[in-house]
Amino acid sequence: NVQLVWLRSDLRTHDNSALAAAAAKGPIVAVFLRSIKQWQAHGHGANKIDFWARGVAAIKASLDGLNIPLLHRDIDTYDDAAQVLLDIAHEHKVDQLHFNLEYPLNEQRRDQAVQEAFKQQGISVQGYHDAIAFAPGSLLTGKGDYYGVFTPFSKAWHKQITADQLTLRDTPKVQSPLAIESDPLPTLPALDEEPVDGRLWLASESAASDNLERFLRFRGRHYKAQRDLPKVRGTSELSPYLALGMISYRQCLQAVMSENGGHLADGDAGLTTWVNELVWREFYQHVVVGFPQVCRYQPFQAHTQQLKWRNDDEGFKAWCEGRTGYPLVDAAMRQLVATGWMHNRLRMVTAMFLSKHLLIDWRRGEAFFMRHLVDGEFCANNGGWQWAASTGTDAAPYFRIFNPTTQSTRFDAEGEFIAHWLPVLESLPAKARHAPPQDMLNPIDYPAPIVDHKTARLRALDAFKALSK
Ligand code: FAD
Repeated sequence: NVQLVWLRSDLRTHDNSALAAAAAKGPIVAVFLRSIKQWQAHGHGANKIDFWARGVAAIKASLDGLNIPLLHRDIDTYDDAAQVLLDIAHEHKVDQLHFNLEYPLNEQRRDQAVQEAFKQQGISVQGYHDAIAFAPGSLLTGKGDYYGVFTPFSKAWHKQITADQLTLRDTPKVQSPLAIESDPLPTLPALDEEPVDGRLWLASESAASDNLERFLRFRGRHYKAQRDLPKVRGTSELSPYLALGMISYRQCLQAVMSENGGHLADGDAGLTTWVNELVWREFYQHVVVGFPQVCRYQPFQAHTQQLKWRNDDEGFKAWCEGRTGYPLVDAAMRQLVATGWMHNRLRMVTAMFLSKHLLIDWRRGEAFFMRHLVDGEFCANNGGWQWAASTGTDAAPYFRIFNPTTQSTRFDAEGEFIAHWLPVLESLPAKARHAPPQDMLNPIDYPAPIVDHKTARLRALDAFKALSK
């Protein structure tokens, strides 16, 4: 009665629904299908793929300790998954296949194809809602629709969350050794780009729980006050780990509750604000199921499909390279390219700059982020981009257009973040770093702004006004 557990973006042995359920039924064999071509087709770049590979190596070490063999197969695309899994199931006389569900459209289709192929062979399959608290479709508006706006979603989430949804799943016990060997892990082939230094993002379950512990001990209570300040490391930096499941939302929320007298919504404002970010994460996973057009390169708000984006390759290049002449935008883009991560406030600022000030199609920015982010995750990335471009779930109307200079004076008052990523501006007085005057720019190698804020703002407003609802 061998149980086959297919690991995907849930690379942990603790609190893993599929592993826990399989362990209750019989001896486990785990499998990972490396799908580099498919990941690249989904826009993932070297940073994420390298992190993924290192995460698989880490979970292999944990599984070794439990005597759970890990099989490793390379497939080109998701279309190959069903056959490869069936071959394994036949070879090892598998009783049941288990996996934790993923919600974007291609992943859902892959899983359906696997379910059908297994059904035809009479082998049972079980998928688990593990990555989020509510199965998509189980948290709906009064009218029975998916939520398209965050605040009511969040209210409903808090009202309906139960202890069971937060209970940690059992870690499998050490099993008796099986006569099945783990596969040696192949090295990663050369990718289009070099990944960032792996020491920036140690890839393992224990690195993730150390991060969580450090965050809650030292920064959690200051989160509300500091989370918008890019110079301060005020956020958890857990996103790569949550994206690949090296830590679960349940582990995060349990840790909050033990710090916060058992509460998620009351008590310390820093901690409860952080909980809300995890609810945002869940919200966007529901959105991709409820509004699957977003998985087909379409906007959440259908009428914005008509928007006349500008074809501006030069502007796009300047944005990618951090040469827009808006120091906060440029510093943020350099942080992204150098580290594979960007602070949330700056993701909003840079995304809005591309889609509003340059009026360049948000899909180009979404793809650039995906190529560089070590935490690149379709639901949050697409959700964030559409929110910033006013094609998505933002409850505020399209005329929310951040002024990048004001954002800079508010959130990087001393220009420290700017100076760190743009050392060429370090010699300028702090106050001048937000929008260096021309005479200060003359002697240094930094561009003047490529667009004027006011003019660009009006151009964006006109483009949105021209849309008929
Ligand atoms: P914390 O502030 O510590 O938050 C804790 C966790 O909550 C995060 O790790 C993340 O899992 C989740 N979270 C926080 N904010 C959001 C949010 N707005 N939407 C969804 N989940 C959230 N997040 C990704 O994980 N992957 C992406 O590809 C991604 N792309 C983004 C693109 C844009 C344009 C924008 C505006 C946001 C994007 N985000 C993405 C959301 C957010 O910026 C990051 O999750 C956050 O910056 C990660 O840092 P942290 O782990 O320190 O977050």
